[in-house]
Amino acid sequence: MARVRDSRHVAETISGGARRGGGERRAGRNRDRGSAEMTESGDELQTVAVVVAHPDDETLWAGGTLLLHPEWEVMIGVLCRASDPDRAPRFEAAARRFGAVGRRADLEDGPEQRPLPEGEVEATVMGLVGDREYDLVITHGPRGEYTRHLRHEETSRAVASLWERGRLRSQRLWLFAYEDGGGAYLPRAVAEAPIQVVLPEEVWEEKYRIIREVYGFAEESKEARTTPREEGFWVGSRV
Ligand SMILES: [Zn+2]
Repeated sequence: MARVRDSRHVAETISGGARRGGGERRAGRNRDRGSAEMTESGDELQTVAVVVAHPDDETLWAGGTLLLHPEWEVMIGVLCRASDPDRAPRFEAAARRFGAVGRRADLEDGPEQRPLPEGEVEATVMGLVGDREYDLVITHGPRGEYTRHLRHEETSRAVASLWERGRLRSQRLWLFAYEDGGGAYLPRAVAEAPIQVVLPEEVWEEKYRIIREVYGFAEESKEARTTPREEGFWVGSRV
């Protein structure tokens, strides 16, 4: 029987799982080595879906990881801005830089951040991922990456819920692990997250070029200044 969990439960499950999962050891190992190695299974993945709220989220929060894995067969699905004449073609160009298939939906994304019905967000996610099975799905963290962006949180909740209920079929779920001190500073990877990917300089530079040149963000923009050099992920667990 399918069960729907609220976002707080998902957040606690994820962070609890991270604490129990020996994430600190993995994080420390990767940091010490300064390498891009990920989990024990990261290199075995083949099919990966990245489901994000906006064009640019895939680059900011997971772009380095995608660049480090050209062998992955990647689908990037964005829930908003399909009809945005500026962002949509930029997204398609970014997807090509990642060697990924890009799919777009067009959920309302006004500045007032009116909450969307859960069913609408979930249906949109399913429309992007279809009924195929992935090795890994990556999406936003339960609390979003910025304080706050409701669409990020809604996307995370919908993807996690669909995955827990088995409707979104994937062996693994990773959620972006970033925090901005409640808005005090630009988002950075959470040190306790079980998966930490320290980007080699040339990988970060390519990621930064996508933000600056493909998406067109100015050097002084929040996005360009954010562009994390370390990417962090929580690992979802079905409980
Ligand atoms: Zn976004």
